[in-house]
Amino acid sequence: MTSPARPEVHRHLLPGVDPRIFALRVADEVDAFVVRTERFVALVDTLATPELCARALELIADETGGRPLLVVNTHADWDHVWGNAAVEGRAPIIGHRSAAARVRSAEARDTWRDKRAADDRFDRVRLVAPTVTFDTSLTLDGGDLTLELLHTPGHTPDHIAVWIPQLRVCLAGDAAEDPLPELWEGDASSAAQLVASLELLRSLAPEQVLPSHGGTTDPALLDRNLGYFASLSGRYADAVRAGGPEFETVFPDSSGLSAPALAFYRACHRKAVRAAAAGRL
Ligand SMILES: [Zn+2]
Repeated sequence: MTSPARPEVHRHLLPGVDPRIFALRVADEVDAFVVRTERFVALVDTLATPELCARALELIADETGGRPLLVVNTHADWDHVWGNAAVEGRAPIIGHRSAAARVRSAEARDTWRDKRAADDRFDRVRLVAPTVTFDTSLTLDGGDLTLELLHTPGHTPDHIAVWIPQLRVCLAGDAAEDPLPELWEGDASSAAQLVASLELLRSLAPEQVLPSHGGTTDPALLDRNLGYFASLSGRYADAVRAGGPEFETVFPDSSGLSAPALAFYRACHRKAVRAAAAGRL
């Protein structure tokens, strides 16, 4: 089967954000980010296919000015790292230690098989793992800007966010999402982990929060996501467990979402409700 139109990547300037940071946007799919420092250019995520990542590299070719390229994988989900083959051998690929294991897992190969069956744009994907890994945090000193890579699990076990203290900018990956982040279902503690990760990011007091989905820069996104989880475990908990009308009340404002996005986030909501009903929040 083939898809009717192949998504394209565009360079996207972020209003109000320091111009050393910009997005590489694949509409309705994901944003990767570029951070230009004195010492290196960091590409945060490689998009969903090597073709998209190769095109992204063309779009940023004028940024490098001879500086080395560093690649960061926020987590090993298909939309974030399946472009890794395009940078293999050209740049170190930095990620959490468990991201490497996820890329090499049978589950990743199953996902690839399913995605290829649905869309031939995934035919040329190769599953390429990070080449530099860490466990808790890793600091990349770019001179003018520092990238602090922080383990922030809950969406996935291998998730990392990027904190840039000089600009008070947080690249949140999928730890924060509008209207709500998705929980990892393979670990009973993922809901508590995600709340802890959101609290960690909020404790940094970012002035701008850039998630990989949703296109916002609003730092209040962290409060909104935390408030959502608090409402599931707080005064609505019993009603949520009973599946009553508060199930809808707690669902965040979803105006502006496309029908497929709404269906996706409703499924995320059901996962969070199950976690709350099981007392895991
Ligand atoms: Zn994602």
